[in-house]
Amino acid sequence: MFNILDYLFDYTPYIVVEAGQSEHRLIHHQMADTDLQVWALVRSYLPKLFLTADQPFKLTCGRIIIQDTNMEPNITPIAPDEAFRFACSSRVACFNECCRDLNQFLTPYDILRLKNRLAMTSSRFLKKYTTQHTGPETGFPVVALKPANAETLQCPFVTASGCSVYTDRPSSCRIYPLARAISRTRETGELTEHFALLKEAHCLGHEQEKSQSVREWIEKQGLLPYNEQNDRLLEIISIKNSLKAGPLDLAFVRMFHLALYDLDTFRRKIFKDGLLSDFAVETALLTRARQDDTLLLQIGYAWIKSELSAVS
Ligand code: SF4
Ligand code: SF4
Repeated sequence: MFNILDYLFDYTPYIVVEAGQSEHRLIHHQMADTDLQVWALVRSYLPKLFLTADQPFKLTCGRIIIQDTNMEPNITPIAPDEAFRFACSSRVACFNECCRDLNQFLTPYDILRLKNRLAMTSSRFLKKYTTQHTGPETGFPVVALKPANAETLQCPFVTASGCSVYTDRPSSCRIYPLARAISRTRETGELTEHFALLKEAHCLGHEQEKSQSVREWIEKQGLLPYNEQNDRLLEIISIKNSLKAGPLDLAFVRMFHLALYDLDTFRRKIFKDGLLSDFAVETALLTRARQDDTLLLQIGYAWIKSELSAVS
């Protein structure tokens, strides 16, 4: 028997679905007004993804959601070495189309990369570019990119010549038109990746000649470090869901936000205020984390994981 932690996420709303052998339950998503349509859509896509009837699983996904239910995306599983036809460039007629109508959640590593790219502290980045809410079921704080325009929901980083933060763009922008899921065996903890190819009518990238395998796409889009970091977040979500359903107390929510999203404040609290003095961290790792945000985030995940076990 597998204990499967699956997820897909892309740049539209964030969804967590918990599903068993006979019942699927929508845990959390960001679209407040369209629960029924959203759930109906998710239910219709579950069998098309990576799932078999006898595997209980948790699925976190985003790109499945569309705002107009008449425009169903086509989602098909694809093997890591399978080739797909796709190319995106400023020459396609739909250039920048996907950077509007934004509803994009950011992972902790997305925030790390973007705030460094913009030479901002994490707290300033969060204030200026994001909106935040607490996931009603997971209880975790969720951070989303704040659109630059309330009507078009345009990304704050899109320009006429493309993405202004391209080399540090979020993982959801990188992976499109693919979605990635992971499963983990309970016995060994071994992770397996699964992928799906998404086809949406507005995206003309699928009509281009260029072809590549899924692995090639993941590597070319610079996703490997993102996947490594984002898988830690999914592990935390999985642990939370297995320990305690529903909201968390405010103190834990603040701790999560500090350690995973607001890294510069987290660093200051560690090195100036003695936060983590009771938490066992290798001295060498802690020393390097003074200058290295990725290592600091790694410590943040370890701390949250350890504190999470106390909330059950
Ligand atoms: S971050 Fe860049 S690629 Fe992603 S939605 Fe914004 S402009 Fe587009
Ligand atoms: S080809 Fe697809 S991914 Fe590229 S700009 Fe057009 S809609 Fe966006």
